[in-house]
Amino acid sequence: MLKHPEARPTERIETVDTKRIPRAPRATTTEHPPQEIRRSRGIAIATNRLKEIKQLSPGCYSVPASKSSEAYVVTVRPVEACSCEDSLRTGNRCKHRHAVLHMLRKSGVCEGCGVRHWNEYLFEVVDSLTFFEGDMICSGCAAGTASETA
Ligand SMILES: [Zn+2]
Ligand SMILES: [Zn+2]
Repeated sequence: MLKHPEARPTERIETVDTKRIPRAPRATTTEHPPQEIRRSRGIAIATNRLKEIKQLSPGCYSVPASKSSEAYVVTVRPVEACSCEDSLRTGNRCKHRHAVLHMLRKSGVCEGCGVRHWNEYLFEVVDSLTFFEGDMICSGCAAGTASETA
């Protein structure tokens, strides 16, 4: 009985190991974040640290630094500026400037207590003995006037 010459143990077929395909190298350059990231970080600062953003003079605010206990000085008028490196070096609207601009758009100072509140917590005075009509007051001050006029 003749053995077929090709009758031998089946060899394993070599396959390409996909794990060995080199990946694209990771970007290592530390570029300044694009504008959209600055904006969202600015909104986060304004949202989380509203009470820490202080007005220094008309159109000028101090904004807390996110990584240290320092604060940056942001001016919104007559020209927009910030004392941080990102703003000074690149001229970009940095996250601190975004924070102040977002705060100014979305909040106001209560005429009653003088504290800055988000717009959704401010109410326009319609009829009051304490405040002028059209004044924006917070819910706490609004509750105070409600009991006075009742
Ligand atoms: Zn800045
Ligand atoms: Zn108030």
